Amino acid sequence: MANQHAVIVLGAGIVGVSIALQLQLRGRQTLLLDRQGPGEGTSFGNAGLIQREAVMPHPFPRALAQMLSYARNRSTEAYYRGTMLPRLAIPFMQYWYNSQEERHRAIARHYAALITHCLDDHLALAGLAGATNLFRAGGWLQVHAHAESLDHALQEAAYKAEHFGVTYEALNTAQVAQMETTLRPGLAGGIHWTQPLAVTDPHALTRAYLNYFIQLGGEFRTGNAEKVQKEQTGWRVQSAHGPIEAAELVIALGAWSPDITRALGFHPPLFVKR
Ligand SMILES: Cc1cc2nc3c(=O)[nH]c(=O)nc-3n(C[C@H](O)[C@H](O)[C@H](O)COP(=O)(O)OP(=O)(O)OC[C@H]3O[C@@H](n4cnc5c(N)ncnc54)[C@H](O)[C@@H]3O)c2cc1C
Repeated sequence: MANQHAVIVLGAGIVGVSIALQLQLRGRQTLLLDRQGPGEGTSFGNAGLIQREAVMPHPFPRALAQMLSYARNRSTEAYYRGTMLPRLAIPFMQYWYNSQEERHRAIARHYAALITHCLDDHLALAGLAGATNLFRAGGWLQVHAHAESLDHALQEAAYKAEHFGVTYEALNTAQVAQMETTLRPGLAGGIHWTQPLAVTDPHALTRAYLNYFIQLGGEFRTGNAEKVQKEQTGWRVQSAHGPIEAAELVIALGAWSPDITRALGFHPPLFVKR
């Protein structure tokens, strides 16, 4: 006999654990499944920034010089494997098309609706889970070597401030040098994004949310999401402790999500950036 839940969440990274906790807080009996321990995928070693300023998705470069610099594959900003290009050709073309300024700004309005409340949401969850000590205020500093890229970044920052309530300070060469004494002198300047919080231990934050989820009656089990099946009344997965069924399914498998959505016959426009 399968164990019944209201919702199964596949993937116990920071995204899956946060969703599972939000569902459990709303009284939905939730089962969280991962093939390894919680927070041991990408969420183990990310840079730990809660990026309130990241309200616009990274656009695909459209200036020829920038495209050529990425195509040479020698940039620190983007690196690709040549063997992946056949698979990435169509997504790259769609990405390029949607990065045209007007389309990009229209998409950003939807994207920003998810991002603008990220600090409030994490502060609320961390407060409940007793984990606010893992947050460090102070934002982050983006520096630019060349005046041209700084000007471009400042224009984008002004747009984000006007439309999405992002706050920042523009810094000149001397201010950057004063703030970060170990940087080489002579940089064009920088932007201090003042709102983001840094997480001192991303794995510990995921574990803290998970512990609180379990305190609320949620369950975590080990199992492979590849075994998920569509049933007449919902979904069924296999865990190390037997089968589990639920009316609803959330796929929060990070970079591995397309493998499962494809197998289930769904084709959202997803591809893995890194
Ligand atoms: C170097 C680096 C730095 C980054 N820095 C930041 C940052 O500062 N701020 C930021 O917001 N983002 C950052 N990111 C992006 C970051 O990856 C995400 O923000 C976040 O960690 C993603 O969480 P997730 O839950 O979606 O994915 P994951 O943490 O990868 O979770 C997916 C889970 O799915 C599980 N899984 C996969 N396949 C299966 C299967 N078949 N069966 C069962 N379980 C499965 C995995 O085990 C994993 O636990 C960074 C990424 C990288 C690579």
